[in-house]
Amino acid sequence: MFFYHNTQSRRKFLAKLGITGLSLPFLLSQCDSENEKNKSQDQANKNKREGKLAIALVGLGNYATTQLAPALLRTEHCYLAGIVTGTPSKAEEWKKKYLIPEKNIYNYGNFDSIKDNPDIDIVYVVLPNNMHPEYTIRAAQAGKHVICEKPMAISVEECDKMIAACKKAGKLLSVGYRLHFDPYNLEMIRLAKEKVYGDLVNLRSAFSITTEKGIWRLDKKMAGGGPMMDVGIYCLQAVCYMTGMEPIAVTAQTFPISDRSKFIDVEETVNFQMEMPNGIIGECRASYSEEDCFLRADSERGWFELRPSFYYVDNAGITSDNKTIKYSGFSQQAKQMDAFALSIKNKTPGIVPGEMGRRDLKIIEAVYEAMQTGKRVTIAKG
Ligand code: NAD
Repeated sequence: MFFYHNTQSRRKFLAKLGITGLSLPFLLSQCDSENEKNKSQDQANKNKREGKLAIALVGLGNYATTQLAPALLRTEHCYLAGIVTGTPSKAEEWKKKYLIPEKNIYNYGNFDSIKDNPDIDIVYVVLPNNMHPEYTIRAAQAGKHVICEKPMAISVEECDKMIAACKKAGKLLSVGYRLHFDPYNLEMIRLAKEKVYGDLVNLRSAFSITTEKGIWRLDKKMAGGGPMMDVGIYCLQAVCYMTGMEPIAVTAQTFPISDRSKFIDVEETVNFQMEMPNGIIGECRASYSEEDCFLRADSERGWFELRPSFYYVDNAGITSDNKTIKYSGFSQQAKQMDAFALSIKNKTPGIVPGEMGRRDLKIIEAVYEAMQTGKRVTIAKG
């Protein structure tokens, strides 16, 4: 009906009815909310009919706003159905922008009542690192599958609790490791696995970004650590997925802090070396005071690298025989969320499960120990 879809026409329609003056704004707002309700219901019905799983994002900060929500407009097997936010103005804005029904909007206080909402299948936790365990566990207890952002938690102990909660609830747990779905990084894995340039000899990687003072990422209680937790984890991941192995030991070094008022209780820069069972050393660096992003593999008969390697888009690859690696028109996050939805639907194991997140926290804990003691720290399996 034209009434629901066009404000100009709606105004004319109301004017024709002789409804003017003070009653008009009230009636228009009633119409607006009725209009939105119908549109969001239509949208939800369409998504359900298409067999898509419904995702609720918890925490509408930078990553959820600029990456995940737009990616959820491109997914084929899941869609943005709900939000959890402590900011009412954001709820209002998102409700309109993404046609989210009022009944699928929660705050941190009433979040647990999501258990009574059969229209939400997956909860995606996009909060500061220290809040990941609580919201993952609460989501599992509410009977929802969970995607938790990286790093999965700030300790192995917490990862264990998160995995146990999801197992107990019979729900899948995944970590937001988008690069397992990135064509650039997948091509690097292929080149390594198929030994296109022979056996790997050495791996090097860095991910460094500059940060502003005072953000939660510089607060050890909330972030669990500095660049190691936030961006170093990408280098660590890359060494594991390029070799298909876990390190047996690590060494690490940190450097004097340049600004004590900014870096109060987290490292500013860390170098760490991962000793892999096949003798390869993964040499990594992460910093909050530089800009760098690459992954380079040296092999027996050549090399191949991405520079940048871990961005959302516009990564770029080159090989020693001058071949370029270039892709376009994809969304890492859309692929990541679709893969998780398919694992749920097909009852197959997730590609980036909670156990992988736990493994990485085990390695990170060893890196911090090595950094603090100056010693080589061995890592036990399991
Ligand atoms: P952000 O600071 O932009 O957003 C955090 C959100 O949490 C905000 O909406 C904030 O309001 C909310 N929040 C709730 N309680 C809070 C509290 N007590 N203190 C601070 N914020 C609180 O952060 P972000 O960049 O969106 O990062 C969120 C998570 O996503 C982090 O774990 C981060 O590591 C991860 N992340 C992952 C990627 C990726 O590529 N996979 C990229 C960026 C961020």
